[in-house]
Amino acid sequence: MAFYPEEFIEEVKSSNDVVDVISGYVNLKRHGTTYFGNCPFHKEKTASFAVTPDKQIFHCFGCGVGGNVISFIMKAENLSFKEAVEFLADRAKLQLPVENDSEEVANELRIKEYHKSQMYNINKDAGKFFFLNINKSKMAQDYIKQRKLNIETVKKFGIGFALDDNSLVKYLKEKGYKETDMLATGLVGKSEKGFLYDKFKNRLMFPIFDVRGRVVAFGGRALGSHEELKEKHIPKYVNSPENLIYTKGRHLYGLNIAKQSGGDKLKRILVVEGYMDVVSPHSYGVTNVVASLGTALTENQGKLLRQYAEEVVLSYDSDQAGQNAILRGIDVMQSLGVMCKVLQMEGAKDPDEYVLKYGPEKFNKLINNSITAVEYKIKILKQKYNLDDTADKIRFLNKMAEILSKVPNNIERDIYIEKLSKDLGVGKEALVAEIEKFLFKDDKKTKSLKVPQPENPVKSVSKETSELEETILYLLTSKRKEVFEQVKKFVLVNDFQVEPNKDLLSSFYQSYENGSIYNLDLTSLCTNEDQVNIITKLMAKPNTSIEFDKITEEVLSSFNLQKMQKRKEELLNLMKQATDQEELNKYQSELRELVQSNVRK
Ligand SMILES: [Zn+2]
Repeated sequence: MAFYPEEFIEEVKSSNDVVDVISGYVNLKRHGTTYFGNCPFHKEKTASFAVTPDKQIFHCFGCGVGGNVISFIMKAENLSFKEAVEFLADRAKLQLPVENDSEEVANELRIKEYHKSQMYNINKDAGKFFFLNINKSKMAQDYIKQRKLNIETVKKFGIGFALDDNSLVKYLKEKGYKETDMLATGLVGKSEKGFLYDKFKNRLMFPIFDVRGRVVAFGGRALGSHEELKEKHIPKYVNSPENLIYTKGRHLYGLNIAKQSGGDKLKRILVVEGYMDVVSPHSYGVTNVVASLGTALTENQGKLLRQYAEEVVLSYDSDQAGQNAILRGIDVMQSLGVMCKVLQMEGAKDPDEYVLKYGPEKFNKLINNSITAVEYKIKILKQKYNLDDTADKIRFLNKMAEILSKVPNNIERDIYIEKLSKDLGVGKEALVAEIEKFLFKDDKKTKSLKVPQPENPVKSVSKETSELEETILYLLTSKRKEVFEQVKKFVLVNDFQVEPNKDLLSSFYQSYENGSIYNLDLTSLCTNEDQVNIITKLMAKPNTSIEFDKITEEVLSSFNLQKMQKRKEELLNLMKQATDQEELNKYQSELRELVQSNVRK
C-alpha cells in the first residue's frame, strides 16, 4: 500500500499527542501552556525549542524548524512520511489499514478484531432491545414523563429499560451470539450451575457511545425512591465492567452527540456529572453538554475535550467531592492548555434539576456567567480565611499571590490584580510585590526558558509601541472573528510603526478578508526572516487560557490612547510651523476635538 487514507493519518495524529511524542526525545519543561527544551536539530545551551499542545505544533526559535507530530518524527528518526505514519501508528497501538502481516500475527489480530466486533454488535442489539422495552414498562414511562423528556431525546440517546427477567439473554441467543462474547460485554452473567442471566434488571439503561458512535458500555439507573433503594440495598447506578472495548475514563457521555452541534470545533463544552445532567438540558436544546462518568476528569478525557472544544466549563456538585473534582479538572485542562471555567449554580443541585426548574434560557445565561479557574480558586480560598482578621488576610494574600504567579498571561494577571486590590482594599504595588516573590522563586528554575527576544527592529520606535503592536498581532493569531472585527475597526495598517509588524498586519487582514486564515499555517504568511521571528514568537505564546474579548478591548484602548498621544504631539509641532491663521485654526480645532474625545472616555 503506497498511501494511507487521510482519515487514518488524522487518527494517527490525534492519537499521538505532540508533547507526549517529543518528550521521548527532548527534556521538556512546561512554562504556562507551552513546553520548552533544547532543540534536537541544532546545538544550543538555551531552551529555545517550543512545543505548543493546543496547536499541536513545535517550533525552534533558534534554527527556525517547525511542524506537526509527523514532521517531527520524520526529522528525528530520519523517516519518510509513510514510515513516520507507521512509526506513530505503532506507538499508539493503532492497526494499520490492511497490509500483509506475518500470518500468525494477522490471525491473532483477526480473532481479536472479530471478538471486538461481536461485542459492539451485542451492545448495539441490546441497546435496541432496551429501547423497545420502554413500551412494556409503566415505571419507565412514568419516569420519562416525570422528567419531561421528549421522545426524540430518548431516541437520540438510545435510552431504554432492562426488564426484571432474563429476556435479554433469550433475545441475544436467538440472534446467534456466542456465550463467551455475551459474557465479555458484562450484560450477561453465568451462575455456578451454568445458567445465563441478565445482569441489569429493573433499570433505566443509558448506552455509552464512543466518539465514532459505537456503543461501548451501559450505565443502568435503578428506578424507585432513594429510601426504597437504600432499604433494599440496591445501588442507584451500575455500569458495564471494563473489557476489550471499554476502558473507564476514556469516554465522555454525550460527546458523540454534542460534537455534532458545532462546526469544526465547539466554542465551549459543559462537563457535568451524571447521565441526566446531559440528557435534560439536551431535551431543551442545550446540546453542548457531556458527562465525565466518574467524579473527576481524567487526562484522556481532557485530551478528547481539547479536540472538540475551545473552552471547557465544569459543573459538579457543590459538596467537598465536587469541589475536589473541579480543582482536579482545572489542573487537567490547564496542563493541556485549554481554557477552563466553572459554572456557579444556585437554587438547584445539578443541571438536570436547574433546567427543569428555570428553563434553558436561564441555564444558558448561567453558562455564560461561568467564572474563570483563577476566580474559582480565589473564591474557595476566601471561604477558608477570615478577611477581617489581619493575620488571616496576610495569609490569604500570600496564597493568592502564589495562584496569580502561575497565571501565564501578563495581561490576564493584571486584570486580577486590579480587581483584587479593589475588593480587598490593598494597594496594587503590595500585591505585585507578593507575586514577584513567587515569580522570582520560579525564575531561578525557568530563567533559561525565556524565549530569546529579537533585536528591537527599529531604533526610533519606543519599546511600548512595538510591544503594543506585537500584542495586537498576537490577539489576531487566535484567528477569532470577533477579535478581527474589533481590531479592524480601530487599527489601520498604517497606524503601525514597525515595518515587519505592518507587513504582517496587512497579510493578516488580507487572509482574513478572503477567508484563508482559518486553515492556514500562520508561518506561511511570512515573507522574510524578521516576520518569521515575530510570528513564531507570538504563536508559541499560550492563547487558549485568556479571555480574548476582555483583553482585546483593553489593548485597543491603550492603542487608541497611544495613537492619540502621537497625533497630539504632531499637531503641536505643526502648529509651531504653521504659516497662516487658517492653517493654525485647522490644527487647533483638531487638537481640541482630540482632547475632548479623550475626556469623554
Ligand atoms: Zn533548533
